[in-house]
Amino acid sequence: MEKSKFRKELEKFAYDRGAHLFGIADVRDIKKEFHFLDEILKDLDYAISIGLRLSGPILEEIADSPTKIYYHHYRQANMALDQIAFRITGFIQSKGYRALPVPASQILDWEKQNAHLSHKEIARLAGLGFIGRNNLLVNPKFGSRIRLVSIFTDMPLEIDMPLEIDCGDCRACIEVCPAGAIKENKEDFDHMRCYEKLREFRRKKIVDQFICGVCVKACKGQETCKKIQ
Ligand code: SF4
Ligand code: SF4
Repeated sequence: MEKSKFRKELEKFAYDRGAHLFGIADVRDIKKEFHFLDEILKDLDYAISIGLRLSGPILEEIADSPTKIYYHHYRQANMALDQIAFRITGFIQSKGYRALPVPASQILDWEKQNAHLSHKEIARLAGLGFIGRNNLLVNPKFGSRIRLVSIFTDMPLEIDMPLEIDCGDCRACIEVCPAGAIKENKEDFDHMRCYEKLREFRRKKIVDQFICGVCVKACKGQETCKKIQ
């Protein structure tokens, strides 16, 4: 009962503060993969996953490389997510539980693409989508046109289950990737090719961060892929 009550309260709290997607994952089995000390994550067995939908018109402006306005929007979305996560943390702590908000975008090692944790893996476990051919989370409604943040907590919460769908017949991102990194099987995604392309964008001073946006634009969820409707 308490799990369901807390979940409903949190969900409302998040949506009232601008969240577009909300889910809860049981992370006990994957906690070891996160770059936090064991004692920090002790008893924080749940993770709340929050998603924000990106602007369609800003993505539509992207051709084969990131734009200045996409770069700005990307950072805006991360800041907005961090704000929501911060407020959720306060809410949870006011109820007497622990909460750890993880930055929406904080890569510790760009070459290995290492962050504190994988927001997309938590979102997948929280039922917000599946990992697509583009190596991103694909939400059935919004595709990969989203940004994510996660908050760990020991507050007892009713959890969601992963979705049992995939890209199906959609291949919209494969042909547009300027690096040729996206393959038929998601397991074959070429991380190095993608990383080299992001380095190139940054070297050319197109943007000041390792971002691209081309496969984000291509993945429109139910607009692109019939199977995931
Ligand atoms: S981020 Fe860009 S380079 Fe990397 S897979 Fe997507 S489209 Fe290709
Ligand atoms: S664009 Fe299509 S193939 Fe690519 S990740 Fe999205 S759903 Fe999958």
